[in-house]
Amino acid sequence: MENLISTAGSVRPQATCGPERPNAETVVNLATAVFNSTQEAIVVTDTSGIVVAVNPAFTSITGYAALEIVGKSMRTLQSGRQNRAFYRDMWHRVSQSGYWQGEIWNRRKNGEVYPALLTISSVRNREGRITHFIGSSADLSRIKKSELKLDHFAHHDELTGLPNRRLLSAKLDQALERVRVNGGMGAVVFVDLDRFKLVNDSLGHGAGDELLTLVTQRLRSALRMNDFLARFGGDEFIVLLEHTTEEATRILAARLIASLGEPFVLSSGEEIYIGASAGISFFPHDSGTPEQLLQHADTALYQAKSAGKSTYRLYSSDLTAVANSRLALNAQLRHALSRNEFVLHFQPLVSLADKRIFGFEALIRWQEPVRGMIPPAEFLPVAEETGLIVPIGQWVLQQACAQMKAWRDQGLALTSMAVNISARQFHHPDFAASVANALQQTGLAGEHIELEITEGTLMGNDRATLATLHALKATGVRLAVDDFGTGYSSLAYLKKLPVDKLKIDRSFVTDIATDPASAAIVRAIIGLARCLHLEVLAEGIQNERQREMLFESGCEQGQGYLFARPVPREGAHELAGLIHDPLTALRGSGIQILRNLRMNGLDSK
Ligand code: C2E
Ligand code: MG
Ligand code: MG
Repeated sequence: MENLISTAGSVRPQATCGPERPNAETVVNLATAVFNSTQEAIVVTDTSGIVVAVNPAFTSITGYAALEIVGKSMRTLQSGRQNRAFYRDMWHRVSQSGYWQGEIWNRRKNGEVYPALLTISSVRNREGRITHFIGSSADLSRIKKSELKLDHFAHHDELTGLPNRRLLSAKLDQALERVRVNGGMGAVVFVDLDRFKLVNDSLGHGAGDELLTLVTQRLRSALRMNDFLARFGGDEFIVLLEHTTEEATRILAARLIASLGEPFVLSSGEEIYIGASAGISFFPHDSGTPEQLLQHADTALYQAKSAGKSTYRLYSSDLTAVANSRLALNAQLRHALSRNEFVLHFQPLVSLADKRIFGFEALIRWQEPVRGMIPPAEFLPVAEETGLIVPIGQWVLQQACAQMKAWRDQGLALTSMAVNISARQFHHPDFAASVANALQQTGLAGEHIELEITEGTLMGNDRATLATLHALKATGVRLAVDDFGTGYSSLAYLKKLPVDKLKIDRSFVTDIATDPASAAIVRAIIGLARCLHLEVLAEGIQNERQREMLFESGCEQGQGYLFARPVPREGAHELAGLIHDPLTALRGSGIQILRNLRMNGLDSK
């Protein structure tokens, strides 16, 4: 040690001023303390590589006690992973520059090979002759392991342990390359669970996570060892098949769907049916890029979902046209709100006894700069699917409230503004709060707003639906069941709902004079409404005969082309004003009013 300390310049204190210079004994003690306490393994050898001394860290890293290794060659530690040329080069550098550093694989006493960052320095005596070498090394295995783990996390999904999008994309790249070189065909199967959101929303994320791991296991067991399965996102999985045929891929897709159609049992004992749909694209036939293949499989998946779910579809280029227009529509819709392209039209709600207008239904239209006025049926389904309906619906609500407030302030005797609410909007957790907000901001009393909710939206019969309805009632608004008769409401269920009005669907009204069954249904709905103390309004009244029959059956409110089509704001104002003009009232019919409007160009159709 004496030699080592006195020749290794780095440990000799250099200070010439300041505190008193320590004596040789202090220096030796300090150096020994460093030698013994450092975390790095230190080994001192003579010039022929025979170990002279090691520190405690060396023993804990390699497993060799000082007594076992001192006197032995450093080769004892060699792992065999580096060849002779490596060591020759290493020693050459040490003897030339007195220093070498690099990563090296060593072998512990228990045989385990581990990576180390090794630094070798030569020690010279006063004459400049090399007397010893000092090797200090850090065990890199923990760092390497965590790097590997990080690498694993970067490429795998934490919940299911499946490869993620990144790894999938790399695998797809390789598979496409192999097909290019070797020929053959591969497939991308895009699997999406049908009712996952329902589980997540109703049973919570914990149950959702558990379900996803069960789904993963089931998918795995339905696949061959070599088939690649990845989690693409939420409840979307991708199977990548190499060397397949259309027939084999169809069979596999059907098998996957069937296996996910079986019930799942959660640890809580809950039995769940979710089902799945799939879309398939083939390579290299359908595309040569991973992104497009996935997009095509997604397009096919959308077709499978539209076809009623629990089925699969193959991509065909015809689908692209449909998907493209859907995508384009979606992109345009995104901007429509900020560009102020939506407008509300208003259709009068009329008292069937005297044709008096007591309110309006607000109906949205999209004034698209190129295509012109687009009716709601063409864009609302896409908005519903993408969730854009939530901000759009909020805009409608806000506008309708503001308009009603303005009309009432102007003295128009209107009591009801009906606003349509979509399913997604209704189920949004902030919905009731946003209604309260719209009323507060516009200063309109809640009783003048009637929210129209379709039978389908209300059908869930769960506690959340009832809670939302009660929260809405608490804001003072009125609730109407829209398109009544087209869903499957049970009477017992209807009785529990805090609704104020039923709107008889147009389909029954249209046939009321020609189809006895429709007439019977209409009478039954009117009777039902009366028993439940609900108001009832008939939609789609187009002629006087229908109005009379409805009125005679006890229906007091109506809406339809007989009175007026939906019209822009100015037209609605005029309609509401005219109908209160005693002269017009004398002239009588709404048809006259409609004529006036046509002359003024205020009719929407
Ligand atoms: P809805 O709520 O049942 O509205 C009545 C629809 O019937 C309106 O179509 C109206 O123009 C039409 N209509 C009224 N009277 C007659 C008639 O005598 N004959 C015929 N053939 N049709 C009549 P519109 O405006 O195209 O709206 C269609 C549907 O779009 C609405 O059905 C409603 O479900 C939805 N919708 C409209 N605006 C909104 C909105 O702001 N938000 C939401 N979520 N949905 C809306
Ligand atoms: Mg409606
Ligand atoms: Mg309706």
